[in-house]
Amino acid sequence: MGMFSRFFKSESNDNSGPIPPEVLPLRNDMCWCGSGLKYKKCHLDKDQVYLENKRQKELAAKKACSPVYG
Ligand SMILES: [Zn+2]
Repeated sequence: MGMFSRFFKSESNDNSGPIPPEVLPLRNDMCWCGSGLKYKKCHLDKDQVYLENKRQKELAAKKACSPVYG
């Protein structure tokens, strides 16, 4: 029992939240996380941040793979 509450505590951390699905809901649809809130009221902002971070990481990874250094 105690293990579960610990798990949820760590999940509420901003850095390690649930990962958004590939197909995101519309702004006025129910959020994918099952909170019962509209997407725009729930994960919309977080998903934007998540996707932006992901894009930045991908760009950085591409740069790191480039044969030209400096
Ligand atoms: Zn949500």
